[in-house]
Amino acid sequence: MTPPTADELGLRLCHHCRLACDATAQHCPRCNTWLHRRKHNSIARAWALMMTALILYIPANVLPIMHTSSFTGDSDTTILGSVVTLWLDGAWDIALIIFIASVGVPVTKFLVLGLLLLTVGRGSERSRRDRTRLYRGLELIGYWSMLDVFVAGLLVALVQFGALGSIEPRIGILYFGLVVVLTMLATMSFDPRLIWDTEPHHE
Ligand SMILES: [Zn+2]
Repeated sequence: MTPPTADELGLRLCHHCRLACDATAQHCPRCNTWLHRRKHNSIARAWALMMTALILYIPANVLPIMHTSSFTGDSDTTILGSVVTLWLDGAWDIALIIFIASVGVPVTKFLVLGLLLLTVGRGSERSRRDRTRLYRGLELIGYWSMLDVFVAGLLVALVQFGALGSIEPRIGILYFGLVVVLTMLATMSFDPRLIWDTEPHHE
C-alpha cells in the first residue's frame, strides 16, 4: 500500500524549517518563507547550471592550474599534468586523490545529474527508488568536491617550505572552483520529488 502524499493530504512542506503547512497558504506560518509545491523552475535551472559547469570544465582542464619555478626551470601544469607528474615521482597516493577529486567526482556528477534530468524530463516511471538514491549520493559527494582545492593548497605549502622552488596558482584552478560551485548549485536546484510525480495516482 502506498502512503498518502502531501498533495493528497493538502499539505506543503516548508523548504526552510520543514513545517508541514496548509497547501493553500502562501507563506510558512512559522518562518514566513515563500511556499512552493516544487522547487521553482527546477529542471531548467539545473540544466542551465550543469551545462555552464560542463563548459567551464574544459578550460579547468586545458588551462594550467599552477606555475612552478625551481632551479630546473619554470613550468605551467594542468590538473592532469600534475597527476602524471606526481604519479611518476612515486607519490601515487596524492596523484590518485587529485585524479578522483578533479576527474572522478565531477564526471560522475555530470553523468548522474544528466541522467536524472533526462529521465525526469521524459516523465520516466522506471526505477524511481534507485534514482532517488542516486540523488542522495549526488548530494553526498558534493561535500568531497572541494578536496582538489585543498590538495592544491597542500602542494603550495609543500613547495613553499622547500627552499628551492616556488609555486603560484594559475587561472585553471579558478575555473575548477567555479565548476565545483556550479555543480553544487545544479544539484541543489534539482527537486528529487519530481522523480515521484509520474506516480499513476497523481494523474
Ligand atoms: Zn518555515
